[in-house]
Amino acid sequence: MEMDKLVSLCKRRGFLFQSSEIYGGLNGFWDYGPLGVELKRNVKEAWWRDMVTGHDELSVVAGAPSEYEMTGLDCTIIMHPQVWKCSGHYDLFHDFMVDCRESKKRYRHDQVRGRWVTFRDKRAFVTTMAEPDKEQAEFEQKSLKLFNLRGKDAGSLVWEGEAMSLTKVPNLAEVLGPDAKTLGTLTEPREFNLMFKTIIGALGSDEDAAFLRPETAQGIFVNFKNVVDSSRVRIPFGIAQMGKSFRNEITPRNFTFRSREFEQMEIEFFCKPASSPEWYKYWRDRRYQWYLDLGLPRERLQLRDHHADELSHYSCGTADIEYAFPFLPPGEFGELEGVAHRGDFDLRSHMEGKLAKDAEGKLAVELNADGKPKHRGSGKDLSYFDDQARERFVPHVIEPSAGADRATLAFLCEAYTEDNVPDENGKPRERTLLKLHPRLAPIKAAVFPLVKKDGMPEAAQKIYRALKKHFNVFYDEGASVGKRYARQDEVGTPYCITIDGETAGGGGVTFRDRDSLKQWRVGADDCVAELSKLLTPTT
Ligand code: ATP
Repeated sequence: MEMDKLVSLCKRRGFLFQSSEIYGGLNGFWDYGPLGVELKRNVKEAWWRDMVTGHDELSVVAGAPSEYEMTGLDCTIIMHPQVWKCSGHYDLFHDFMVDCRESKKRYRHDQVRGRWVTFRDKRAFVTTMAEPDKEQAEFEQKSLKLFNLRGKDAGSLVWEGEAMSLTKVPNLAEVLGPDAKTLGTLTEPREFNLMFKTIIGALGSDEDAAFLRPETAQGIFVNFKNVVDSSRVRIPFGIAQMGKSFRNEITPRNFTFRSREFEQMEIEFFCKPASSPEWYKYWRDRRYQWYLDLGLPRERLQLRDHHADELSHYSCGTADIEYAFPFLPPGEFGELEGVAHRGDFDLRSHMEGKLAKDAEGKLAVELNADGKPKHRGSGKDLSYFDDQARERFVPHVIEPSAGADRATLAFLCEAYTEDNVPDENGKPRERTLLKLHPRLAPIKAAVFPLVKKDGMPEAAQKIYRALKKHFNVFYDEGASVGKRYARQDEVGTPYCITIDGETAGGGGVTFRDRDSLKQWRVGADDCVAELSKLLTPTT
């Protein structure tokens, strides 16, 4: 699937727009249009329902080590600045970036890709930010310019190895920057803090600086004690939160995949240290299955366990759930969700102060030059007392951390389909459709009177009103039925309901399935029951 087609459908049909588009847009920010907002809400609601409100705490869910409870939270975007100091984001939450002295542009070091090329005795690493399928054409064009050659001389360029990341090139003097004309204009990689800074209060100075949260997780940790003290949850239990997060990404790209403002759906699951490896495995598999159940196929969805050297210093295990987004080179996957075993790192950091590994490799409070804690913790006791076992401990944490926008994008990419099917007259017709899972589809059914006369609109509107009480349905009486079907297929509406000449005489209505095109008759009074049945998840 070509990404351009999906991007254009998203704009044309009101799924996604560039933020502030009339002013030329703002890089890394996206708005969800009338259909996009429904789709994203359905993604978030499916997550909340499946993980939180629909969870059965009375029985042992398949694959889980025991029963467990789930609860939710909604906390502020701006939090006490100390939160980010103790969490490690203030010191560590950075990417490496390179600046170009010639073009004045800034790039994320690991996202610049290039290829070694030689012409006679001159050698250069030519780079680009182009999409993978356009990379080689860019390399060639830029190399010709660099070596002062014409198009017909392309054959005299000698290519070395495959395209690769700039991070593999130690000597930047040999590099031609993505938008540069001369070699060696890129600066050495520098750290760049990804948190958006803001000032609290009208007279605020830099000392009053606060940050827009770069993740929702910390709000859960700092409320751990509140939740335990105010509700009856007992370990093992999880707290879920979804909401906006902000990261000043250096090179936002690939549609909404890497945005500067996005939504996360995170769970912090608190358990006894001894059982935490089992819970980690449970959550990893459970979250992978969630994407499968909502329509991402196994061949494009992978669960990738991190190697030991990739793990954060506190993590005993991390896995990424990754999808083969169409904008990535074949065989490459992009992260949808990370599931991490975080040990007691977070709760201890908020108790004791920011932790770091000491000389023996153990986590201890990081000290400054005066031997004092570099970032002081809250001093509050965030341990947990198990009144049955009569023991006190700091719970271990499993964190499934997902992105609502990335999940929405993956579902859209997977759903985009072009096929060729017979129209109502049996003639083959090219069709574009979104094969969205019915739970995610923005509109659940469209109701059409076959023609605008003979009482059909009135009968159709009656059915529409009855359905509308329960589902997001759409009424359309304009254009031919074929055109109306096509409009709904294109936005992923799973069912169309047509009221025809037989309806008035008790002949019922026609239901039509978006994917199979199967049609069947249903009694006019049974539409709500039929649609409920069709939309009820079977898993
Ligand atoms: P990446 O390596 O792609 O930057 P990450 O490992 O930093 O991602 P996490 O900090 O684990 O991401 O965040 C959890 C989830 O939040 C990600 O799996 C992703 O779905 C989402 N997410 C993170 N950054 C962005 C972003 N800039 N735009 C959209 N979603 C994001």
